[in-house]
Amino acid sequence: MGLDDDAREYHRQDPPGKIEISTTKPTNTQRDLSLAYSPGVAAPCSDIHEDPDLAYDYTAKGNLVGVISNGSAVLGLGDIGAQASKPVMEGKGVLFKRFADIDVFDIELDFDDPADVITATKAMQPTFGGINLEDIKAPDCFEIEERLREEMSIPVFHDDQHGTAIIIGAGLVNAADIVGKTLEDLTVTISGAGASAIATAEFLVSLGVARDNVTMCDSSGIITTDRVDAGELNEYKARFAQDRAEGGLADAMEATDVFVGLSVGGIVSPEMVRSMAENPIIFAMANPEPEIGYHEAKEARDDTVVVGTGRSDYPNQVNNVLGFPFIFRGALDVRATEINEEMKVAAARALADLARKDVPDAVVKAYGDQPLQFGPEYILPKPVDPRVMFEVAPAVAQAAIESDAARKSIDLSTYREELEA
Ligand code: NAP
Ligand code: MG
Repeated sequence: MGLDDDAREYHRQDPPGKIEISTTKPTNTQRDLSLAYSPGVAAPCSDIHEDPDLAYDYTAKGNLVGVISNGSAVLGLGDIGAQASKPVMEGKGVLFKRFADIDVFDIELDFDDPADVITATKAMQPTFGGINLEDIKAPDCFEIEERLREEMSIPVFHDDQHGTAIIIGAGLVNAADIVGKTLEDLTVTISGAGASAIATAEFLVSLGVARDNVTMCDSSGIITTDRVDAGELNEYKARFAQDRAEGGLADAMEATDVFVGLSVGGIVSPEMVRSMAENPIIFAMANPEPEIGYHEAKEARDDTVVVGTGRSDYPNQVNNVLGFPFIFRGALDVRATEINEEMKVAAARALADLARKDVPDAVVKAYGDQPLQFGPEYILPKPVDPRVMFEVAPAVAQAAIESDAARKSIDLSTYREELEA
């Protein structure tokens, strides 16, 4: 049987789907039940009515994330609608649970209009400690997330945007170091101007890349001020418009230090890689087929080429699961009001730092005994490395505290010990 049939069987096995609810308190006696529900439950209700923050003490809110989608940009499948997106959203819940012991309700909203998604999500603030927006198409996703971030006092994080940006950012910090370049001086060409590309471009600027050094291309070519003036571009693309002649991706890649592909497979040739600056860095992230294959990019030149892709069968996989479970873990554990830029930068730097440390034998074994040592073939930690949790979650919690996004202060060394226990 192929992967598709295996997956159908996996999902169909009784009970259907991948998640269930379980209870965490005794429910054996009549008294247990009258504590769990009426009449006993009235006491915590009244307390929360007096002090809403007590919801974190009396309910599961503080460890519960809403994974919310309208199914408008699901995997590479496109706008397949809310119902058809449910296996993906349950799957996201599985990853939250497996990697960070965070519980998820997956919420599939049958809405196309961003205003409806905003209203519905906002109304769910009482339920959740955080919101992970998922697989919502660009540019709607920008508006939805921006509005929800303004109007909600719990973290709202669109993983397709920022999760991707954070992992690429971490990889770039290390790749730049390996080829002896500084972020401030890097020129970056980004193919794609959708959800992940716009967020990645903005995040690279947060990490120190100069905005003027970022050239972005969409399906019509380089994003220029002329195209903005012609009214062709949305406001998110326009923020990266360059005052230069119009051109295509090949023009944009000439002499550039970094290529980030968040577009479609197979559009970068070995010649285009050869036209880049010395010791180039390439993140070819289109799934399942990258903009240029890992080996093709490596073999295009004789100098060092650092290559990352979205694929698990090559080194340097940019995998979002390195980020979102641990970012939410840190944010939830300080009852953060948001996931801000400082927290995202802290997550990226923690991932970058971890890749420089020796890798435990158990992790090396899990990856077939290939040597995992900081260098062009290992710029990011592996998702099964348990240290990712111990490094990223406290870094995010600390950044939340220092940037006034935490509603609860914690002792970070105790916190780290608790995570490791
Ligand atoms: P998206 O919002 O649909 O954006 C796709 C972008 O690609 C659009 O801006 C589109 O241009 C542009 N594009 C299409 N054809 C192009 C071409 N020939 N040259 C240059 N740009 C072109 O999609 P997304 O969610 O950002 O994802 C983009 C890709 O990255 C997908 O393949 C996705 O699987 C991959 N991705 C991988 C990871 C990962 O592995 N960790 C994470 C996120 C995304 P227009 O704006 O003109 O339509
Ligand atoms: Mg997604």
